[in-house]
This record gives sequence, C-alpha cells and structure tokens, in this order.
Amino acid sequence: MAPLRIAVAGAGTAGLAAAAFLARDGHDVRLFERFAEPRPIGAGLMLQPTGLACLALLDLDERAIERGCIVSGIDGRTVRGARIFDVSYGDLAPHLFGLGIHRGVLFGLLYDEVRRLSVPIAAATEISHSRPLPGGRVLVDAADKEHGPFDLVVDGTGQRSPLRAGEVRVRVDRPYPYGALWGIVDMPDTWAHTQKLAQVYDGCHLMVGVLPVGRGPDNARPLAALFWSLRVRDHEAWQQAGLADWKARVLAAWPEAAAFVVQIRNLEQMTFASYADVVLQERHADRLVFVGDSGRVTSPQLGQGANMALIDAAMLSACLRDALSVNAALADYAERRRAHTRFYSLASRWLTPFFQSDSRLAALVRDAAFPIAGRVPYVQREMVRTLAGMKTGLFSHLDPGIWHARYALRPLSAAGGPT
Ligand SMILES: Cc1cc2nc3c(=O)[nH]c(=O)nc-3n(C[C@H](O)[C@H](O)[C@H](O)COP(=O)(O)OP(=O)(O)OC[C@H]3O[C@@H](n4cnc5c(N)ncnc54)[C@H](O)[C@@H]3O)c2cc1C
Repeated sequence: MAPLRIAVAGAGTAGLAAAAFLARDGHDVRLFERFAEPRPIGAGLMLQPTGLACLALLDLDERAIERGCIVSGIDGRTVRGARIFDVSYGDLAPHLFGLGIHRGVLFGLLYDEVRRLSVPIAAATEISHSRPLPGGRVLVDAADKEHGPFDLVVDGTGQRSPLRAGEVRVRVDRPYPYGALWGIVDMPDTWAHTQKLAQVYDGCHLMVGVLPVGRGPDNARPLAALFWSLRVRDHEAWQQAGLADWKARVLAAWPEAAAFVVQIRNLEQMTFASYADVVLQERHADRLVFVGDSGRVTSPQLGQGANMALIDAAMLSACLRDALSVNAALADYAERRRAHTRFYSLASRWLTPFFQSDSRLAALVRDAAFPIAGRVPYVQREMVRTLAGMKTGLFSHLDPGIWHARYALRPLSAAGGPT
C-alpha cells in the first residue's frame, strides 16, 4: 500500500512497537503521548518466544536478550513444597525460551528505535477522542486541539483507552478482585544462576514470586522483580500494617525469599497494580485500530499482555502491506488476531481464580489436578505452548518461526543462554 499518514496514540509497548513497524514500512507516522517525558510504567515483565520473534523483526531481539535474563520456565510450589508447576520451554523445542526484562529496558529499546526512525513525538498531549472525516480521521486532545487529518489512527493508549467511546462496543470490562505488589531488587548472589520464574502459593489467596529480569536501564547489576498477590480492597490495610508485618508474612510463606525481602526498606518500593478483563466487540472502526491493552486486557497470570501488544503491532504492519485499502487492512488485522486474542482472554480468565482468588475449591482442584496433568506429555506440551504465547485455540497454535527463524538455529547452551 502507498505510504499513509498515521497517528499513533500512546507511547507504551504497543504504541512504540506500532510506530516502529509502520515507520520502517515507509509510512508517515506521528506519535502522541500524554506524559511530557515518555516513560515506562511498572517493574519487570516476561516476554514470550512469540513476542521475541516480533522484536527480531525490528532487529531489537539481540539487544533485549543481552540486557534481559533468559527464562527457561516456571517453577510453582505450595508453601509446603508440593510442586504444582514445572514447565520448561525446552520441553517443546530446544531453541525456545522466555525473557525476563526490566520494563525500562524494553521501553528504551523501542523508544530509541522510534527516535532513530525520526518519528515526531508530540509529548504532553493527552488525546481525548478521534473524529472521522470523509477519507480520514483527526485526533482531538484534551485542550480541544485537532491533529491531522490522518489516513489511519492507531490506538495504543492502554487499558483505559479514551478512543473506544462511540466507536466500538466494550463487551466485557470487569476488574479482578486481586492485584499485585511489584518491586525491583538486586538479584542476590545466592540466586544468581536461577533461570526460572519462581512462585509459591498458599491456597489461591497467597502468591509470592520472583522473576529474574536481567540488567536495568542503568545497565549495571542483574535485577529481579519481586511480586506479592494482594486483594485490591486490602491495599490500604497493607499500607497501614507496615513493612514488618508484610515481611513476616512473606518469610513465613517462603523463607528462601529472605535475600529479596530484606532489600525492601520502604512501602514505596512495592508498587500496586490492579488488573481487569476487557474485551471489545471489534478491534477496529473506520480508519481506527486498537493495539495492545486498548484492544483487550487480560490478567498478567499468563504473562502475555506486552507480548500480544508486540504481535498486534507486527500483524498490523503486515496487513497494511498486503491490503488494497486501509479499512480492508484493519478488517484483515482483526480477523488474523482474533483466535490468538480470544484464546488468551479465555485462558487468563479461566486460570486466574486458581492463583488469585478466595476459592478453597479452586485451591484443592489446582493442588490435586495440576501436578497430575503436568505428568501427561500431551498436556505438558500444551501448557508450555500456552505459556509461550503460541496457542490460538484448544487444538491449534502458531509457531514464532513464522515471523523469524533466527532462534531455530540457536539452541540454548547448557548455561541457558543462546549459543
Ligand atoms: C502487574 C502486571 C504484570 C504484567 N506482567 C506481564 C508479563 O510478564 N508479560 C507480558 O507480556 N505482559 C505483562 N503485563 C501486561 C503488560 O504490562 C501490558 O499488557 C502492556 O504494558 C500493554 O501495553 P500498552 O502499550 O498496550 O499499554 P500501556 O503500557 O498502558 O501504554 C499506554 C501508553 O499510552 C499513554 N496514554 C494513555 N492514555 C493516553 C491519552 N489519553 N493520550 C495520550 N497518551 C495516552 C500512556 O501514558 C502510556 O504511555 C503485566 C501487567 C501487569 C499490570
């Protein structure tokens, strides 16, 4: 398709990745961000092989891997030591791995790429809505100033997108009762060789975990994200009870976490994040398309949100390349992303109560059934595929290699890094 004038609203993972892909395709892209200085929000996250394949298309994968930490799988146990999960990407294929990465590092890689591509960034510009015109669309900011017209508006404004109103129907918008506290700490020497996301559970009401995330934006020492599941309504009580009380609870559940917990010296080091389940009827309207959390929000239980944001951006660019008109490309994008998005919406909705709820029954079922299911080779493979972001339905899946074959030639070394 001939180069288009494209506005991208929001400089998060989805917006930055979309801007990078579309500018590389030769489109005239402008980025709008409400913050005066675009910045990452949150601690660390886990990228899946599918998301890494998208970074590879932008030639950012090597730098991400160099700064992040290879994650070979998940180890989940109860406080009594019973193993619930032991999932390894390597069970699926030797070249697959996840990547723990500091949010600031992922943001920096995408932001630098957008600047390298000379995409103009209108910072301190809060978009309030967009308006269709014959053959175009304008963005309107909170000061009522119009920007455009553009041939296409890409919405990357995240979970609370203001651009959905009046354009698409929100089918589900349900907050989860549980959220999580997240903090970044130094990776203790005694844990230096860990390559798994480690989680400890007590019933479904208690979950504490550690994700290695590699080095931070300052490029110094290896870091880890420490997280603690918490009911949204208990957040205030947690703050009032103070650190000593919380630390005692963490250590009672998981004494081995002491080297992480000791580094938390004030409550502000642990940021609270709540989440929601949001599903749109359609992820596009006339010359308007939703990428990342603006188009669907899942609980972070399966670690897929940023990953799906990267896939959305890559897919949008591919659809625009092949289509005869903007709206035909958007319909194609929505169709090609439908099965994958639906699977992860359903899977995270279904799985979340087993890890973050007050249900005793869910805890009993999880503790009895998950370890048995994990010993069935077929189920084990499907669990890894689900984690890897590869599932598109109960009996179907995509292969990250369809985007890039780079890792197929690079099995993990014994130490866990790509050889
Ligand atoms: C606790 C937690 C843990 C998670 N862990 C993982 C994980 O391990 N792996 C994973 O893949 N995902 C994870 N996720 C999900 C992931 O963080 C999100 O899915 C992802 O960040 C969504 O990116 P986004 O760009 O769509 O939205 P956002 O990151 O929210 O970015 C939106 C951007 O738009 C800007 N913006 C908002 N409104 C406006 C406006 N009106 N005008 C202009 N700009 C605006 C914002 O300032 C921001 O820069 C986790 C989420 C949470 C809460």
